[in-house]
Amino acid sequence: MPTPPEDLAELIRTNQPCVVLTGAGVSTESGIPDFRSPTGIWADFDPRDLATLGAFRRDPEKVWRFYAPRFSILASAEPNRAHRALVDLEELGLLRAVITQNIDLLHGRAGSREVVEVHGSIRTSSCPGCASAYPLAEVVALIETGRGAPRCPDCGSVLKPDVVFFDELLSANAIDQAFAFAREARLLLVVGSSLEVHPVAELPEETLDAGGRVAVVNEGPTRVDGRATLRIEGRAGPVLAEAVAQLTPARLVDYDPGWPAAFESERAHVAEALGDLALEIQHMGSTAVPGLAAKPVLDLLAGLRTLGLPPERIAAVERLGYEYKGEYGLPGRLFFRKGGGRRTHHLHAVKHGSKLWHRHLAFRDYLRAHPDEAERYAAEKRRAAARDLTAPEYWEVKKPHVDALLHRAWAWYGTRERPPGI
Ligand SMILES: [Zn+2]
Repeated sequence: MPTPPEDLAELIRTNQPCVVLTGAGVSTESGIPDFRSPTGIWADFDPRDLATLGAFRRDPEKVWRFYAPRFSILASAEPNRAHRALVDLEELGLLRAVITQNIDLLHGRAGSREVVEVHGSIRTSSCPGCASAYPLAEVVALIETGRGAPRCPDCGSVLKPDVVFFDELLSANAIDQAFAFAREARLLLVVGSSLEVHPVAELPEETLDAGGRVAVVNEGPTRVDGRATLRIEGRAGPVLAEAVAQLTPARLVDYDPGWPAAFESERAHVAEALGDLALEIQHMGSTAVPGLAAKPVLDLLAGLRTLGLPPERIAAVERLGYEYKGEYGLPGRLFFRKGGGRRTHHLHAVKHGSKLWHRHLAFRDYLRAHPDEAERYAAEKRRAAARDLTAPEYWEVKKPHVDALLHRAWAWYGTRERPPGI
């Protein structure tokens, strides 16, 4: 059964153009709190007292006392895997535009090209006195002098951040663009927003009314859940990274003589994480066969005393950057992977000496011992890769060849080191 991110990938692939609408949930992994959550930055403040034009006109110093520390957090935050996944999606030609409620600039800094910032951004602050605009770095420098609210160096007025305050109208240009994208979208994907703020909250209706579909990735309910084709409860980063990985064509590279050393170095870390539960860790898969073109993902095979890992061992492996996936469709194996949307390592943990253990080694050793087979296999992989298939399609094309190869490898392996009964 497809996982929710796989369903999302399929929905994106088959419903183009796709437009993404993002909210605070996209930036929480960058350390920017969601201001609408109970523990968010508004929890101790009434935004209507502070982030309003009225408040700013009455007491700009007070508004800046609230804003200044948040400005510094926003200015130093880095894009996370959710932002990067959307960049990749745009590069794949599967994302028309990002409409964001966030003011943190992280979509643009990650590399997204088409971004509509409906609530403005911290990119500039403007002087109400003389209309000069100052870039973020200058405003942060003014804040950091510690002399209260940042003032216009020319005329001395207190600068106003170019974000949309609660009682302010959205930029007509931005909101028109957003609604145009929503109408054009065959799929509007809402990520990390509960759709509380108008008029942005009406964008999904705009897509639905124009005959498009809506999908949601969010922690917690949203206003559009009832009309969404797909709703995924979860954090933006992992879900988007996985969906985009599904849509990314298999990338094949020539054999890299550095792979054995890279394996050795990773093996040492994984061995430490698994401790005495792993009897042996081997390099498996295509990167373990000298000369073979491969996807640049190192496969590690850990032979466990018994099949199963206590939570603290799983946590130790996760601290190396791996994500634990359980059996992940293959009974008898515990699967970890590292690298999110740009996978770098797979760790397959099986019972040492089990059939799975030996099958993986048979595949590797057979190809190592039969360069002609390795060459035919490489040619098959190149043919599949040249078709620009997504990862699952690539696997489907390759599978009959791999099955036949495994069969020959297993027969050969049995004539040498396969223990009786396996
Ligand atoms: Zn001025």
